[in-house]
Amino acid sequence: MLAEIVAIGDELVTGERLDTNSQWLARRMGELGVRALFHTTVGDDMEANQAVLVAASQRTDVVVITGGLGPTADDLTREAVALAFAAPLERDEQVLASIRELFRRRGREMPERNAVQADFPKSARVVPNPHGSAPGFWLEVPRPRLAACHVIALPGVPAEMKQMWEESVGPQLAALLGESRQLIRHKTLHCFGAGESDVESMLPDLIRRGRDPVVGITASRATITLRVTARGRDDSECEARIAPVVQTIRACLGSLVFGEDGERLEQVVVRQLMEQGRTLAVYDAVSSGRILQWLRDADPTGVVFVGGTLLSHAHGATGEPGASATEASEEPEAGDALRLASECRSRFGTDWGLALRVRHSTSPSADGAEEWIELALTDGITQVIESQRFAAHPDVLLPRAAKQGLDLIRRIVRPSIADATPSRVV
Ligand code: AMP
Ligand code: MG
Repeated sequence: MLAEIVAIGDELVTGERLDTNSQWLARRMGELGVRALFHTTVGDDMEANQAVLVAASQRTDVVVITGGLGPTADDLTREAVALAFAAPLERDEQVLASIRELFRRRGREMPERNAVQADFPKSARVVPNPHGSAPGFWLEVPRPRLAACHVIALPGVPAEMKQMWEESVGPQLAALLGESRQLIRHKTLHCFGAGESDVESMLPDLIRRGRDPVVGITASRATITLRVTARGRDDSECEARIAPVVQTIRACLGSLVFGEDGERLEQVVVRQLMEQGRTLAVYDAVSSGRILQWLRDADPTGVVFVGGTLLSHAHGATGEPGASATEASEEPEAGDALRLASECRSRFGTDWGLALRVRHSTSPSADGAEEWIELALTDGITQVIESQRFAAHPDVLLPRAAKQGLDLIRRIVRPSIADATPSRVV
């Protein structure tokens, strides 16, 4: 079953307000196995509304409308549906009485204008709205050679729309789908350390269109996410279809995969350190404190992440105003990242020390001065140094640097290595 979500309102198309209803509805539909194929947003314009509704009813089986059910002149949904589907509006006296009653309970007289909220397209069912004055409706629109299209109109007020979906539309739609109902379930795998197309090329033809289960790939601030989507009669059927695909992805990508289902790098790092009873301190002269903040969020009581030093990286590459320094204010004049990691570790009395700093390359390269991010991690025995070009879109640059630091810890501080590394007293 295919669906279209139609969000109506001038405030949405002008950009004044973000259409959050469509996102919410699409997710709920997905849970029921209804695939939202189109999201349409349209302003408060009668002709445009009609055109959108007619098109939606021809190309999908369920059309869910939000917005435009209010009592004012710019609320056109009722009339637009009536005209689009030749279902003239009829007043429902019972609903009218209940709207009057709602106003009376709130100590007000119902303005006559609100009476239109008791008007519904002929033969539509009323979708009750327990907390608002605008009930919704459900109209079955006959289609030649096709099953009827279900046109469901809900108010724009997010809280009312959600309650009406949860209490009445969602369950009725589930009942309608009955035995043929197919659930949709997702599993996500998160990777760090390679680009989107590199990750894709490491996978054997999994991201082909029309494949089942579907595998999608997205990148967000240097984290690559693979999303496996399967359909099935129930959870276990979906899981059984997802599991082998996840296994293949893990086999192909190995340690590039750091987590599943929303897990973050810093959570993985904190967990690994916790399992080993090891502590960490971080010297950050690159990420403007992101790495420190993320680690603190993942370990609020400081069981493994004891603390850190924040310095500005003292150059304008990111376009950000210089980060404030909490401990010192100047980049050290000399000394490499490894020494900084070591000093940080001693200073905070931790097992591991990580340092991130920017190095200006002196080698005369083709495009002039180059900046490199230098990362070092040490526990006094193991010493790792890595460096990478410090260049990317400003939105990506600092989060990526912070993730590089976290990922270095993740790769080095592994349980197997911990077992082989003698613990030491600082
Ligand atoms: P309406 O039903 O068009 O009178 O809208 C009632 C309220 O809900 C207004 O404050 C709208 O801005 C808000 N609203 C309408 N549609 C949406 C939407 N798609 N997402 C979020 N808020 C909305
Ligand atoms: Mg509106």
